[in-house]
Amino acid sequence: MKSLILVSNDDGIHSEGIKALARALKRVGDVFVVAPDRERSAASHSLTLHRPLRVEKHGPNVYAIDGTPTDCINLAVNGILKKRPDLVVSGINKGGNLGDDVTYSGTVSAAMEGTLLGIPSFAISLVSRDNFNFKIAARFAAKLARYIFKKGLPKDTLLNVNVPEDVNVKGYRITKQGKRVYGDAVVEKIDPRGKKYYWIGGDILRWEAGKDTDFEATANNFISITPVHLDMTNYASFRELHNWKI
Ligand SMILES: [Mg+2]
Repeated sequence: MKSLILVSNDDGIHSEGIKALARALKRVGDVFVVAPDRERSAASHSLTLHRPLRVEKHGPNVYAIDGTPTDCINLAVNGILKKRPDLVVSGINKGGNLGDDVTYSGTVSAAMEGTLLGIPSFAISLVSRDNFNFKIAARFAAKLARYIFKKGLPKDTLLNVNVPEDVNVKGYRITKQGKRVYGDAVVEKIDPRGKKYYWIGGDILRWEAGKDTDFEATANNFISITPVHLDMTNYASFRELHNWKI
């Protein structure tokens, strides 16, 4: 029997990234797309609990939801799909999800929700600001999906995949989450009525130099695969904290 692949994203159902991903994954299994009806980037792992959610059919096996990426996976698995998916894939995001940005990412959170539901999951993003050619990322997603069907994934672990924009990709690296350097990311301005407003973000992406990080891999034209563990306990800190006398 063919495998069932659930596809979502945070850029919304109309993004070319999700279309390229769904197209590529159709060669690996039956694809079901359930995605937000509009862009929900940086929605993180938020779940909608205080209003109803509406589902709109956009085509055969394509559904839009007026909710977050997490809502989409949760609703797809627990409500819309007749069969439990064998794999959840989220993306292809327009822009990288590197370093600490993983904590804000709706793309990664969709894969997180899949993992929480016990389904092997990965997120895939294109590290670019303006040149969105999804070909290499889509091809790699299909390859990775096939491989996961053979090998499975470590328990409670999702893969956060980032693909460089350059067409001359050298291969892939297993990486650790890097550390972003935050600049003066908040812009303060005055609106036409003389009131102050703020705008978060917009500065150029910089990161701390670190070996084997996702930043380093993509900067050197490698696809980065970071295994992300959902148990966020810092086991290495146990010894130090056990010595505390609060
Ligand atoms: Mg996005």
